[in-house]
Amino acid sequence: MQLRVYNTLTRKKEELIPIKAGQVGIYSCGPTVYKYAHIGNLRAYIFMDELRRVLEYDGMKVKSVMNITDVGHLVSDADDGEDKMEKSAHETGKTPLEIAAFYTEQFMKDIDALNIKRPTVCPKATDNIPEMIAIVQALLDKGYAYETEDGIYFSVEKFPSYGRLSGINLEEQRHGARVEVNDFKRHPVDFALWKKAAPNHLQQWDSPWGRGFPGWHIECTAMSKKYLGETFDIHTGGVDHIPIHHENEIAQAECWLGHKAVNYWMHSEFMLIDGGKMSKSLGNTYTVDDIVARGYKPVEFRYFCLNVHYRQKINFTWDGLAAAKTAYDKLCTQLWAHKNSDVATDVEVLEDFQKKYEAAINDDLNVPLALGVLWSLVKLPKSKDVYKLALQFDKVFALDLDKVKANEQAQIDIPDNVKALAEKRLAARREKNWAESDRLREEIAQCGFAVKDTADGYELVQK
Ligand code: AMP
Ligand code: ZN
Repeated sequence: MQLRVYNTLTRKKEELIPIKAGQVGIYSCGPTVYKYAHIGNLRAYIFMDELRRVLEYDGMKVKSVMNITDVGHLVSDADDGEDKMEKSAHETGKTPLEIAAFYTEQFMKDIDALNIKRPTVCPKATDNIPEMIAIVQALLDKGYAYETEDGIYFSVEKFPSYGRLSGINLEEQRHGARVEVNDFKRHPVDFALWKKAAPNHLQQWDSPWGRGFPGWHIECTAMSKKYLGETFDIHTGGVDHIPIHHENEIAQAECWLGHKAVNYWMHSEFMLIDGGKMSKSLGNTYTVDDIVARGYKPVEFRYFCLNVHYRQKINFTWDGLAAAKTAYDKLCTQLWAHKNSDVATDVEVLEDFQKKYEAAINDDLNVPLALGVLWSLVKLPKSKDVYKLALQFDKVFALDLDKVKANEQAQIDIPDNVKALAEKRLAARREKNWAESDRLREEIAQCGFAVKDTADGYELVQK
């Protein structure tokens, strides 16, 4: 079936026609590795993974490239403020290299836990500095860039279609108050390709313009071209990247190459927390570890995410995650009942389900609709064919449906002492006595059980 995707550039759903038949190249803007990825970031990578899985389900060979940003991403996505890696280094007394290595490893653990397939290649920005310098030099040679006291800047006025992706107007930006005017820039939207470094800047390299470090945007152009070629199929990222990062990528790549570099731009919407923004000051930038600490499996968070289309905002609440967990458990229990059945299902019935499922996933990744098809499927009379088809659907969902053991878990008798500890813990939680609640969780764990908090209390599972 032909996959149709929403292309941010053309603002419509289009048939995905790969450059090389049967093969698709995807570049996804990767994490800036100066902190743990929060669950909003991870939603963007679950989307990246769903896209890959749908393409693979359709029989495509996918090359997926996701960069690791370990230099050049400034505190503001434009050219202001400190480098995020540098800032973290100053705060912790560690080197940027140590920080990057630590958080890259954590990130890989998180994506593994969420069943996000590791991309084919994960290049690091700091391993590709010569490639970046070469592009900056070419842009200078072609007259698209200029040198200032503090770096090399791209001149957006030299690229007439600047702003096409996000719909911004350069003239309005010049006069608008939203963009800070940097004295060195010819236009407020001009962006840094290369920054000259102060002697005490921790990450710096030799360049034709003295010691310095690359701008964040040039990293993605250099690495996507290196691993996917001059023009590739799909570029993904979160919607926050549309107005600056991706607009800049398009401008510099097209001016450098003299032609289009990306055929389809796809963006995932943001995750809100309790209806609002995620922020450090509100203490709501939750991580995978936070989810696990509250007794949820990462796959239950994945299920939570899959219930909302990637182009819709998703609102995370702990109650919402508890509801997702309940639904997921129910799905597993229903599926389990099919596993040991000897009964077959009519082929036409199965084909009908498969068609509906494939139509959904190929319609711009309508995964929530495809999950609905799975739910209808498991409600059919018990049959081994239902089980098999559900596992085929799970190639895209990646919800561990092949590992379902719902009935086995349900049949385990919980000893009375463990039940009593769990009741005591519930009481402690209701009194907000978190220390006591944590102590009791540990005691329950020592008895071989894990206690998970649910919307209406708790659940005990054998470890
Ligand atoms: P960063 O590490 O900040 O470059 O972000 C990594 C990815 O997470 C990017 O694709 C962002 O667009 C995305 N992202 C950041 N915050 C959120 C959020 N609250 N919800 C969804 N995606 C996000
Ligand atoms: Zn990028």
